[in-house]
Amino acid sequence: MIRRLALIALVAATPLAADDHAHDAASHAAGDDPGLEISQERLRADMDTIVGFGTRHTLSAQDHPTRGVGAAVDWALAEFGRISESCNSCLEVEAVGRVVEPDGRRIPEPTLIRNAVAIQRGTERPDEVIIVQAHYDSRVTDPLNGTDDAPGANDDGSGSVMVLEAARILSQREYPSTIIYALLTGEEQGLYGAGILADWVTEQGMTVKAVLNNDMIGNSCGADGYCEPDVVRVFSEGLRADSTEQLRARQRRFGGENDAPGRNLSRWLAGFAAQYPEGIQVRQIWRTDRMGRGGDQIPFLDRGYPAVRVTVAVEDYDHQHQDLRTEDGTKYGDTVDEIDFTYLTRASRLNVRALDYLARAPMPPSVTADAAVRVDTELTVHPVAGADTYRIHVRRTDEPHWREQVPEGSRGESWDPVFGLIRDPASQAPHRHTIPLRGDDWLIGVSACSGAICSPVASAVPGGAFAPLAEPESE
Ligand SMILES: [Zn+2]
Repeated sequence: MIRRLALIALVAATPLAADDHAHDAASHAAGDDPGLEISQERLRADMDTIVGFGTRHTLSAQDHPTRGVGAAVDWALAEFGRISESCNSCLEVEAVGRVVEPDGRRIPEPTLIRNAVAIQRGTERPDEVIIVQAHYDSRVTDPLNGTDDAPGANDDGSGSVMVLEAARILSQREYPSTIIYALLTGEEQGLYGAGILADWVTEQGMTVKAVLNNDMIGNSCGADGYCEPDVVRVFSEGLRADSTEQLRARQRRFGGENDAPGRNLSRWLAGFAAQYPEGIQVRQIWRTDRMGRGGDQIPFLDRGYPAVRVTVAVEDYDHQHQDLRTEDGTKYGDTVDEIDFTYLTRASRLNVRALDYLARAPMPPSVTADAAVRVDTELTVHPVAGADTYRIHVRRTDEPHWREQVPEGSRGESWDPVFGLIRDPASQAPHRHTIPLRGDDWLIGVSACSGAICSPVASAVPGGAFAPLAEPESE
């Protein structure tokens, strides 16, 4: 008891990790906050423009000047180009695509799938990338109908106009890491555009820090009248999609089923949103996507990249994937008049703030824990570029979230969760750091910090690293 009192006194006298984070967010909010630059008027104007193409269905016209997916992608590329002109050509604008062969499902004939992509190169670590993406293609009831009007205002015009607005705002700043802004097509035909972009990112040799896939962020009420205007859902996978028999064997024995990088990205995003109490909050959904459905985060997860789906808290099934019509007094169809632009603005704000932060944070470090037959735990942390300190996070194995504070050690001692690397930061040799906890009883993770900006946590469990498993897992 005396020990506990002593610890409380110590705690009162020294700033705590959680307080530090709160101060960071406060200074962010008080100072340069790109989230406040989101323009609802521009989101509306872009929405009117893209809905104006009539349909953006992947099988619609490629060569019509004003209607169909071809004209829509051309416009998005041109708009990224105009954004780039206002930042001294800071964006590389590319149509990333290829012809997809018939698949016997939703691609009946060879089809050109083109994504509109803009790359804002990082100033210090250009190969390290954060991707913000939405699917640009739209559909009606029949997934093969490429001719009827398919406005796709919410699904996924809402994510698309957010991506354009994020590019406008963040391209006025410089970041250590690269940001990729992507409007993907082929989603409704089988997640084709996302697969093409994920392969392209791999070919470029990029290290993916995070993928924020935004798919439907523009409504706050369901058709039954149930509303949730203050929450977005963030979906993350539990078991890694790129898992192997060997990894599953190790996870069965030592844990890791709740610590995939996407899961830790979700935890980070929820905590980040909570630092802006006036802003939209995150409900974490710990499954890859909604029941029986999918999205463009999946091709990235399949390749081992950390990705989440950001989407509305309440879906409105009358106004997605529907032919435009009125039946028994009910209007169906994904039209602009059903969009809640206040909700869309707030969801956009969360994205832009998160991108701004992640593009300045280092990569989460790869970390392993040795706790076998010992009273303490030795962490092996692989240094990451741009980090000056590392921060240790812990939780009990049956706790869902990282604790705000680390607990006292096994013998009641207080210990500092923050440590630096004393030797040459350019060295790639792993750093060993011992903490006074019995590792059998805890899940332990580490984030990498550049000043007050810290990465999401990477867990010291099999499969916890923010890297595809194809790269040998550091032991
Ligand atoms: Zn969608």
